[in-house]
Amino acid sequence: MQPIRFVLVRTSHPGNIGSAARAIRTMGYTRLVLVAPHKYPHADATAMAAGADDVLDGIVVVPTLVDAIADCRLVLGCTARRRGVSLPEITPREAAAQAGEAAMAGEVAIVFGNERTGLENEELMRCHAAVHIPADPSYSSLNLAQAVQVLAYEMRLAQLQGQPSAVAAAKSDPAATAEQMEYFFGHLFQTLVDIDFHKGRSPVTIEQRLRKLFLHASLDQREVRILRGIFDDAQRMARIAKERS
Ligand code: SAH
Repeated sequence: MQPIRFVLVRTSHPGNIGSAARAIRTMGYTRLVLVAPHKYPHADATAMAAGADDVLDGIVVVPTLVDAIADCRLVLGCTARRRGVSLPEITPREAAAQAGEAAMAGEVAIVFGNERTGLENEELMRCHAAVHIPADPSYSSLNLAQAVQVLAYEMRLAQLQGQPSAVAAAKSDPAATAEQMEYFFGHLFQTLVDIDFHKGRSPVTIEQRLRKLFLHASLDQREVRILRGIFDDAQRMARIAKERS
C-alpha cells in the first residue's frame, strides 16, 4: 500500500469528496481519509468521483484529525490563508519533495480543511508544516478538490522526476565513458583540421565550445560510434579531395 494518504477534514459538500477522489486517482493515489464528513456516503460523492471506485471503496471515515494521522511521521496541512500559528509555510512543490522523502521511511498525510472555515488552529498545530498554494492574495481560496488536485499533481511530478525518464530509459546503450569522450574529441578535432575548418585561425576557442556542447549532450556509446563514423567519412573525403587537387 502507498504510504501517502489525503485527509479531508469536516467536508461539507459530498460532491467535493467525489471530486477529490477523482483528483488523487488521476495522479496515481488511492487513499482518502474523511474526518467527520457532514454527509457521507452520498450520491453526489459517487457521481463526482466519476468511476474512481477504488478510491471510494477504500475510504476510511474517522471522528477526529488525531485518529486520521496517528501513525504518520509527516503531516502537512493545506491552508488558503496565513493563520496565527507559527508553522513553517511551504509551497506544494516543497511539500511534494518532503512527502516523497518521508514516504520512504513511513506514513505521510496531506490534510485539507472545511470549505468555509478551513483547518482549525488546533488542527494546524498538529501539522509539521503549512502548505500554501501561492494564489492571488486578493482571492486565494481554491475549491477544496482543486487544492487536492494541485497537491496530488506536484507529488506525482516529484515522483516521476525521481524515476529515470522515458527518454533516458529508451537510451538503451550505456553512457560514454570519460576515456571514450577523450578519443571522441581527439577524432573530432583532427577531423576539423583534415577538412580545413580552421583556415588559419586558432582552434582553441572552438574546441572548448565543442567540448562543452558534446559534454552537455551526455552521449551514449552508440551515439559516439555514429558520430565517429561520420568523422571517418569526412576524413576519407578530405583525403580524396587532397589527392585530386
Ligand atoms: N475560507 C477557507 C477556505 C477553505 S478552502 C480558509 O480560508 O481556510 C478548503 C480547503 O482547501 C482549505 O482548508 C485548504 O486545505 C485547501 N485550500 C484552498 N485554497 C488553498 C490554497 N491557496 N493553498 C493551500 N490550500 C488551499
